[in-house]
Amino acid sequence: VALLTTLTGWGRAVPGHSEVVTVDPHDTTALAAVVRRAGPRGLIMRGLGRSYGDPAQNSGGQVVRLGDTDPTSAHHLGDADVRVDPVTGTVTAGGGVSLAHLLEVIVPQGWFVPVTPGTRFVTIGGAIASDIHGKNHHDDAEYGGSFGHHVRSLRLMLADTSIVEVGPDRDPDLFWATVGGMGLTGVIVSATFRVVPIETSLMSVETWRIPSLDALMEKMAESDTGYRYSVAWLDLLARGRAFGRGVLANGEHAVRDELSGKQAADPLRYTARQIADLPPVVPPFGLINRATVKAFNEMWYRKAPRHRVGQLHTIAGYFHPLDAVGEWNRVYGRRGFLQYQFVVPHGAEETLRTIIGRLSDVQVASFMTVLKRFGPGNPGMLSFPMGGWTLAVDVATSHRGLAGLLRELDTLVFDVGGRHYLAKDAHMSADAVRRGYPRLSEFQTVRERVDPTRVWASDQSRRLGL
Ligand SMILES: Cc1cc2nc3c(=O)[nH]c(=O)nc-3n(C[C@H](O)[C@H](O)[C@H](O)COP(=O)(O)OP(=O)(O)OC[C@H]3O[C@@H](n4cnc5c(N)ncnc54)[C@H](O)[C@@H]3O)c2cc1C
Repeated sequence: VALLTTLTGWGRAVPGHSEVVTVDPHDTTALAAVVRRAGPRGLIMRGLGRSYGDPAQNSGGQVVRLGDTDPTSAHHLGDADVRVDPVTGTVTAGGGVSLAHLLEVIVPQGWFVPVTPGTRFVTIGGAIASDIHGKNHHDDAEYGGSFGHHVRSLRLMLADTSIVEVGPDRDPDLFWATVGGMGLTGVIVSATFRVVPIETSLMSVETWRIPSLDALMEKMAESDTGYRYSVAWLDLLARGRAFGRGVLANGEHAVRDELSGKQAADPLRYTARQIADLPPVVPPFGLINRATVKAFNEMWYRKAPRHRVGQLHTIAGYFHPLDAVGEWNRVYGRRGFLQYQFVVPHGAEETLRTIIGRLSDVQVASFMTVLKRFGPGNPGMLSFPMGGWTLAVDVATSHRGLAGLLRELDTLVFDVGGRHYLAKDAHMSADAVRRGYPRLSEFQTVRERVDPTRVWASDQSRRLGL
């Protein structure tokens, strides 16, 4: 099925027209035929389009999806696409399978994904191509790190349509170029990765409401070693003594002994429902402005307990709260938004404070401002995480002076050796990305080897000269 379609990322800010082709994920012959027919603008894979900018679109060229013909569906391909091996504690799944589907299959069997982002509507292919991180990146080598750290092997269709199996011990250069490589080395047809044993489907959460940025950062650094998962939400609009106030939520998978009643009777029961939809019509300027975000932030901050331990949350409630509202990305109105996410290394806390201060000075109306701590990065050549602090801020593209603000913040990030996340990027320049990713030339050497004629191309790869 091929359709000329206007595509955007989740931020809805940078549209492009591409021919979208949907291929049955089991039919690698059909996939090879599509790859062979790639035109001069090349082609790029698209998962569920949850990257914010333009990595999964290819203006004037082709975009390929594995699976379902409904572009909004979560790729529910059936259990056959997910194979659990309880002996090795691994799962093998197709590149188009969503985490949403995977969780439905594996949680009742006592397993959890090694890494989940803040939405379950991402595919395995998208998770590996962006080398996604979750709230557990700071944890030890067994349970922490980004998605690529847990991948044992993957089947990759190359530009010449051959399918190769690569892993950390089999063509590691191609493997680590693919992990975080934004789809530019080939199609991730399937992958085998470690999963995490769980006794229950619930999370045991310790919450702290913390009145200032310094106290929040101190508490994160001191408490996250005791927890596998840790994340803080910040109120960017709070000023004065309340500057940088936030809510820290540290979590662990609950064990059976923590459950009682109905929950204890069915400890691995997994449900994750969407409970609301955004109204079909949103005003062109959106629902987000300083007044609405101020009210939301105040409510969110006040609703959090000052300190509570051992509160039970569902997986969806702790990891994917935004998924409860369908198409929430439309709240920013017609012009859309971008998510500014960067990491700065440990030791650059002063720069982090300065950046948060600048965002607060100009009163960026972001209701989802998230601060996390990362453990060490992996060998992925374009992988985003590095030991340090990462901040993600949603900004409406209509924010006055946005381009100048981002240029100023970018410089602060680069000056301390930090970088921006390609899965969120919509604004970087080719020069800037080279400062953040000094191993780009290694990536390009591998790309030259496996795709000398540049079959794989996206709007982002052209913009950044990847
Ligand atoms: C609400 C929300 C919260 C998020 N939270 C986080 C978070 O906490 N941590 C985090 O790391 N990210 C987070 N993200 C970003 C998201 O995890 C990544 O952008 C992810 O890559 C999206 O997966 P996707 O399947 O939608 O891929 P797409 O966005 O469709 O594509 C992303 C990239 O993957 C490539 N790709 C997709 N499928 C394949 C394939 N089969 N083979 C080869 N390449 C492929 C595409 O070419 C593209 O370059 C969040 C996004 C949203 C919307």
